[in-house]
Amino acid sequence: MANWREHVRKVTPYVPGFQPKEAGVIKLNTNENPYPPAPGVCEALRGFDAGALRKYPDPTASVLVDALASYHGLPPDRVFVGVGSDDVLAMAFMTFFDGGAPILFPDVTYSFYPVWAGLFGIPYRTVPVGEGFVVRAGDYVGSGAGPADGNCRACGGIVLPNPNAPSGLALPASDIEKIAAGNPGCVVIIDEAYIDFGGETCLPLLGKYDNLLVVRTYSKSRSLAGLRIGYALGCADLIRAMNDVKFSYNSYTLNTPTILAGAKALEDEAYFCSTLQKIVETREAAKRELAGLGFSFPDSAANFIFATHDRVSAPEIYARLRDRGIYVRHFTSPGIDNHLRITVGTDGEMAALYGALEGILG
Ligand SMILES: *Cc1c(COP(=O)(O)O)cnc(C)c1O
Repeated sequence: MANWREHVRKVTPYVPGFQPKEAGVIKLNTNENPYPPAPGVCEALRGFDAGALRKYPDPTASVLVDALASYHGLPPDRVFVGVGSDDVLAMAFMTFFDGGAPILFPDVTYSFYPVWAGLFGIPYRTVPVGEGFVVRAGDYVGSGAGPADGNCRACGGIVLPNPNAPSGLALPASDIEKIAAGNPGCVVIIDEAYIDFGGETCLPLLGKYDNLLVVRTYSKSRSLAGLRIGYALGCADLIRAMNDVKFSYNSYTLNTPTILAGAKALEDEAYFCSTLQKIVETREAAKRELAGLGFSFPDSAANFIFATHDRVSAPEIYARLRDRGIYVRHFTSPGIDNHLRITVGTDGEMAALYGALEGILG
């Protein structure tokens, strides 16, 4: 007898970091920003007239698109916006990766990439990172990228976070240029979720490479993970193709208060820079503290540190921190299962972390 269960789409979903419900915990597990969003954003949301929600939002989110365009000095037709960069990345996968050739990404990277590839039926090949989780640009170019297909494409697309997650390591823009220049037949997506905390943006390359798409998010550096805003910058043809897919799927992605607050967030550069600077200072101090406690880690340019201890296993440290109300992230994938990804919090939160670690490590 026919059973609908046999016809369900089989996917292995992404597992987001744990969101504890209890108050008073120290949450260093999902790379959120420890500081509140810009005061102007809070004001705009408080002053929002809920009666306006009677109407559909602007499907083009033009207030936000125009604000982002002027912030980055690009015309609005080179900006795509979505519900967090996860939505933007999913749209980009759907738009640019047709399954003709496998796409490439590092074997140690954002764990959502293989999930989207699976969901959309896109074949992929993971490229091993080198010693110390280093991404080697040469592995994504020419013969390093694999055998060429009938269309002279070594691969069907590339997606790479810069800085990478969870290592925190950044590549210089010259390496990104090598990858974009070496793959003119496919789209190269650079996920700059953490670029505001360090590393060199590849945005200046956009004028030169029409196959380069740069994806950004408000979730980390702009303290707005709960609002859900992400965007992509690229040539007008790339952005048009993404909008065609978006309007074939869901026209009203961003809601009205989010569109307004998202534009507002770009107006306070001084606040933005001051919170970034605090996080970078806390991160550099954390490197010294964690090294002193016996941890080693790649030199992070992001708002987290990917650390392993010379004596005590990561799962044990993870569990004992959790018992003390401190949450960090532990991944169980082979090769990274003895590491903890620790988000950089406030100085106070980090002091509590160091105190707890001293107790745990004896
Ligand atoms: C956090 C993160 C994202 C997703 O962020 P959104 O909250 O969906 O904007 C995308 N890529 C990387 C590498 C991330 O770490």
